[in-house]
Amino acid sequence: MSRKKIAAGNWKMNTQINEGIALAKYIADAERDKGVITILAVPFTHIYAIQKKIKSSSKVLLAAQNCHHKTSGAFTGEISPVMLAGMKVPYVILGHSERREYNYEDNALLALKLRAALNSGLKVIFCCGESLNIRKAGNHLHHVQLQLQESLFQIEVREMKHITIAYEPIWAIGTGETASPAQAQEMHEAIRAMLKQKYGKGVAEKTSILYGGSVKGNNAKSIFSQQDVDGGLVGGASLSGEEFVSIINSF
Ligand code: PEP
Repeated sequence: MSRKKIAAGNWKMNTQINEGIALAKYIADAERDKGVITILAVPFTHIYAIQKKIKSSSKVLLAAQNCHHKTSGAFTGEISPVMLAGMKVPYVILGHSERREYNYEDNALLALKLRAALNSGLKVIFCCGESLNIRKAGNHLHHVQLQLQESLFQIEVREMKHITIAYEPIWAIGTGETASPAQAQEMHEAIRAMLKQKYGKGVAEKTSILYGGSVKGNNAKSIFSQQDVDGGLVGGASLSGEEFVSIINSF
């Protein structure tokens, strides 16, 4: 079964608007493997301008890095999934470890966010992954299983076609330390087995599972070549057009 190959860049809270536009244009215009779904998770402030500057024929898709769990209301400073859908933003990232850590987003809140995002018509890149302590204690598989059970597995089987999973071990995010291809494969295979148990073989085989954690141009190939790794969610290296394009071309 061939699954969608995806390279998603997470810019986090980086780039001024002109830099963001230039970076998005570089990637949109670059010679790259068009069989790889290319997603840029840009700051909210950049979405409108970047949409105007890149041609839809470039097949670069945008994502938000977060959204609220309500559709509207007195939530100062928040962005609702309906607003994103209204702007035709196709994807939102939910459950990134930085939001779990700095914004205290727990599995229960993420279940609400998933519900709201899917009800609004967004596709979701759902992040999971363990800390170094959890890995050292050997509890990483159980930890990720709980993250999926308490958030993602609240959704219906028919909605799973809108989900991409990103496994991101926290100890590898922004640290320069990457999970080995074997460590990534072990977790991705386990996640696929969890999907199979919950939603059946068809969903398990069709759901793309991305690896995230210090993916670079020089290590992407060895990670993406693992059987259950369908691409990457890339932070730091997605801020360089050249580096990100080389990651896109690593499948
Ligand atoms: C991320 O933040 O999703 C990420 C994987 O970051 P980095 O590639 O910089 O480790």
